[in-house]
Amino acid sequence: MLVVEHISDLRAFLNQKKNQTIGFVPTMGALHKGHLSLIDFSKKQNDITVCSIFVNPTQFNNQEDLINYPKNTALDIQLLEKSPCDVLFIPSVEEIYPQPENTVFDFGPLSNVMEGVYRPGHFSAVAVVVKRFFEIIQPSIAYFGEKDFQQLAVIRALVEQLKLPIKIVGCPIVREKNGLAMSSRNQRLSDEEKQKAGIIFKALNDIKNNHKHDTLPRLKEKAAATITHDATVQLEYLEIADGQTLQPIKDWSETNYPVAFVAVKIGPVRLIDNMTIIS
Ligand code: AMP
Repeated sequence: MLVVEHISDLRAFLNQKKNQTIGFVPTMGALHKGHLSLIDFSKKQNDITVCSIFVNPTQFNNQEDLINYPKNTALDIQLLEKSPCDVLFIPSVEEIYPQPENTVFDFGPLSNVMEGVYRPGHFSAVAVVVKRFFEIIQPSIAYFGEKDFQQLAVIRALVEQLKLPIKIVGCPIVREKNGLAMSSRNQRLSDEEKQKAGIIFKALNDIKNNHKHDTLPRLKEKAAATITHDATVQLEYLEIADGQTLQPIKDWSETNYPVAFVAVKIGPVRLIDNMTIIS
């Protein structure tokens, strides 16, 4: 696997591969099986797979979260060496933002709900950095996890808005044995907290398994009660929304593609998850 820090080196390599398809997997590092599954998808569908590791400072609205974001590049490289990844791009902040960047993207209702409410400006900053990576790498296909369902919707909207010739592929959520969605931030949880966080998956499953037999508000309320049963788990939101528009619904009849979304905090660690109720 080639490891490069500079755009010029990455372009020099990719320019030699003119007629080959490039799959791109953007990450913020602290890699786990969720990330590696994206790389597997990419390698199956492309000649060359490029993975990036870049902790984008502009998309963090909580400085504590940025400072404590897990980082272990040596381990990441070891994991990627065993994966089918061809190129790892690890640029510095200066490489990505040689000048101050003040583009603001507006995704309208898609980014005004859920994560958009709790992380103002986050999706615009994600769009700016992903656009920058797309310009540098020029992939045929880019891979994003459904774990960040709203982010995936925003990236699809970005590609549509800018008419970029890039296909966006969403990949299923990879989970721990107890159902906890894999996340780099899980590294900040104790073993006991990780066990506790399994309740998120249970609550989402309860909604999915009972949606034919109960009203939406009642199932939402029960799921919220399940999650907050342990007082150390703080619920930020639990929403059921249309999987296309991401607008919250109050009755199952409002969409044929309902998705349940949840965000919690366990101590300072923020976790998000979602589950498609009917696809
Ligand atoms: P991150 O490093 O958290 O920014 O994630 C990089 C990419 O991996 C994003 O597209 C995420 O949605 C995806 N991802 C993160 N966790 C998982 C997971 N548990 N399952 C599948 N994809 C994931």
